[in-house]
Amino acid sequence: MKKFVGFMLVFVVFVATLMSGSPGMVSANSSFKDISSSYPYKEQINYLVNKEIINGYPDNTFRPDEKVTRREAAVMVSRAKGLSGTKRSTSFSDVSSKDYASGYIQSAFEAGYINGYSDGTYRPDATMSRVEMAYLLSQVFGFNTYDKYYYSDVNPFTKSYHPINKITAHGISEGYPDNTFKPTKDMNRTEFAIFVARSLEPTYRVTKKENTVLERVVTADVLNVRKGPGTSYSKVGSLTRGTQTYVQFTANDWAYVKTSSTQGYVHQAYIAKPVSAISGSIITIDPGHGGKDPGAIANGLVEKEINLAVSKKLQKHLEAAGAKVVMTRTDNDTYPSLSDRVKIAENSNSTVFVSIHANKFSDKAAHGTETYYNYTAPQGEEGKKLATFIQNRLYKAIDTYNRGVKHGNFHVIRENTIPGVLVELGFMTNPEDAKKLASNTYRELMAKAIYQGIVDYYNSKK
Ligand SMILES: [Zn+2]
Repeated sequence: MKKFVGFMLVFVVFVATLMSGSPGMVSANSSFKDISSSYPYKEQINYLVNKEIINGYPDNTFRPDEKVTRREAAVMVSRAKGLSGTKRSTSFSDVSSKDYASGYIQSAFEAGYINGYSDGTYRPDATMSRVEMAYLLSQVFGFNTYDKYYYSDVNPFTKSYHPINKITAHGISEGYPDNTFKPTKDMNRTEFAIFVARSLEPTYRVTKKENTVLERVVTADVLNVRKGPGTSYSKVGSLTRGTQTYVQFTANDWAYVKTSSTQGYVHQAYIAKPVSAISGSIITIDPGHGGKDPGAIANGLVEKEINLAVSKKLQKHLEAAGAKVVMTRTDNDTYPSLSDRVKIAENSNSTVFVSIHANKFSDKAAHGTETYYNYTAPQGEEGKKLATFIQNRLYKAIDTYNRGVKHGNFHVIRENTIPGVLVELGFMTNPEDAKKLASNTYRELMAKAIYQGIVDYYNSKK
């Protein structure tokens, strides 16, 4: 007897599961002629069909692209909430008791989910826009809390912003991949099915990808912040030159920005990328060796070539940030003497000198990255600071052993009157280091890290 009770219980649970139409349980009779087995939202559609919230047509089609009318929307949300659909007279002059949806429309109205128009009509045949749908679903399912989400076509100062944020925060919509929501676009049956399925079943929900937030600074003395993308919109505040802003999205010539104290639209002509600390500075890069002097040779690598390749990548980073770069050599055939290199740096009015090298040692076990300065040099202390910033970026970026910042008695940093460092990227004689020194990807990482170290040094001077 006990066994029988157990069986009954399992049976009841099974039937209940079927009736609740849990996701993944797609019944065979809900396959439509116009919904292929690979249709991306087939599962959500079948979920609602199984729950009898949405129906197909008698010709066994679903018509996924057909627009949803206000009548259909009222029927579907009433069914989703289990409201009575028994036909009856309604509060609307254009919905008679004979309308198949009259009961659903009146029930949804009495529940406070839908409203008519001020002329007493419901306009059942009008289509539903996406923002109306957002409003309806947030009412029906009680999506009241919201985070701030930004779509490029939803002005945060308008009423539409709130329901759209609510359904986004609850995972009902993530908008389109181009960061639009298309609030005025008509809902089609598929979109409606997706939204309602996600409202009812949390496992279907989605998370909107956060758009990239750009840092921009105000370049005008005073910049008005407005409620909309145009000068006709009222002012909500103003920003002064140099204020840091974060662009949430853009609308034509306007950007919706947030600052620590306000947010709104500003004209894009008066904001710009923050100016780098090194912008306008002159920097000498010295690719070690060259011409008749190849430097070290090991593992098929020639030092002068490595030094030049990394230096040229470093030059690009520095120039992109607005620095003027002076190279002591730009090809592998030239050999500037050590004193020439110092003269080039000094005559160019450079503020820093960075010499790039790769190391070698008789024992191939020796490995790692080190950066030298010279403490007897006129700017030895500055050299040490620069070396420290570069070293800390470099060995981490390329995951080499940190040999540290050291004093070194090299001509180009000893005789230099401007802060100078000599970077030893790694050991050409060590198999692991050599692989990195040979790799274009690692050379790029090296250049970027040295660049960042130089920026760190300039930032420390601000
Ligand atoms: Zn060298």
